[in-house]
Amino acid sequence: MTKTIPNILLIYTGGTIGMIKDPETGALRAFDFENLLVRIPELKLLECTIETYSFKQPIDSSNMNPDYWIQIAEVIETNYDAFDGFVVLHGSDTMSYTASALSFMLEHLAKPVIFTGSQLPIGDLRTDAKENLITSIQIASLQYYNKPVIKEVGLYFEYKLYRANRTTKINAEHFEAFASLNYPDLAESGVHLKVNSEYLFKPNARKGLVVHKALDSNIALVKLFPGISKNILESIFNTEGLKGVVLETYGAGNCSTEEWFLELLKDTVNKGIPIINVTQCSGGSVLMGQYETSEKLKRIGLISGKDITTEAALCKLMYLLGENISANLFKTIYETALRGEMS
Ligand code: ASP
Repeated sequence: MTKTIPNILLIYTGGTIGMIKDPETGALRAFDFENLLVRIPELKLLECTIETYSFKQPIDSSNMNPDYWIQIAEVIETNYDAFDGFVVLHGSDTMSYTASALSFMLEHLAKPVIFTGSQLPIGDLRTDAKENLITSIQIASLQYYNKPVIKEVGLYFEYKLYRANRTTKINAEHFEAFASLNYPDLAESGVHLKVNSEYLFKPNARKGLVVHKALDSNIALVKLFPGISKNILESIFNTEGLKGVVLETYGAGNCSTEEWFLELLKDTVNKGIPIINVTQCSGGSVLMGQYETSEKLKRIGLISGKDITTEAALCKLMYLLGENISANLFKTIYETALRGEMS
């Protein structure tokens, strides 16, 4: 079998990786994508062909939103057959959200979509951008018998490839900015690029790509803390148009057993508004019923987010609300791992 040269599409959305210092204000701002390629002549040495697509107006990822997620999904959809893999350059601040969202939006994905970015701009002497970009392209180019090795949305940063919907940004200044505390790394880059094949997502090979674009962002994220105000919680849970809530509880999914609080949750669930129980801990899983303080949540009908990240929980909620799933199936589907986002 003759080996084909992989064709990679590099999608530039913005972020530090393509930023320069404004000489007047000293603030970092996005610059022209063309300059990114000029600054990394090494890209020409890779064993793949690279084409590029850039957002007209590259953004700091703090400005990301579901409309941009749809734009990225559409670029991948339009170019899906023409390319063997996709690398998305994105600011690190909200990369885990975008990459999680894309994992749900791209059903039956059978090619690599690798998100990456950097902590220092590409032009900085000590930049981490070059390694992140070059290795991401190499990972997206990995093939076995002319078929992609990675068939899911990944996030590559500082020598590690993670399943994207398992990641969280954990550090604002270390090069190792991301962690995947509940799922092993998919690959590690050292002297060799070591792929941990047993952990890779295996999509249904007989189905073609389906792109889901109906995301419902009328949801809330509520993080509990001791002393949280009844008035404020009531006003959040009774917000008009609220479609779902991700509730960050303590430890293995525990919360206060005060009556007003449990009544509020019960009323919300009875109104048909799903509440997802996720833990505030960075690692570990919700296990409703393990303690008395979570047993009640189980009886009220809260949905267990198990070991999902908050980022993925929010994106999964937006995605499933957009799919108009019937109320009696919603809990079962939410509690099912759809893209390897929960154990
Ligand atoms: N503020 C930047 C962004 O997320 C930070 C980065 O790129 O790492 O767009």
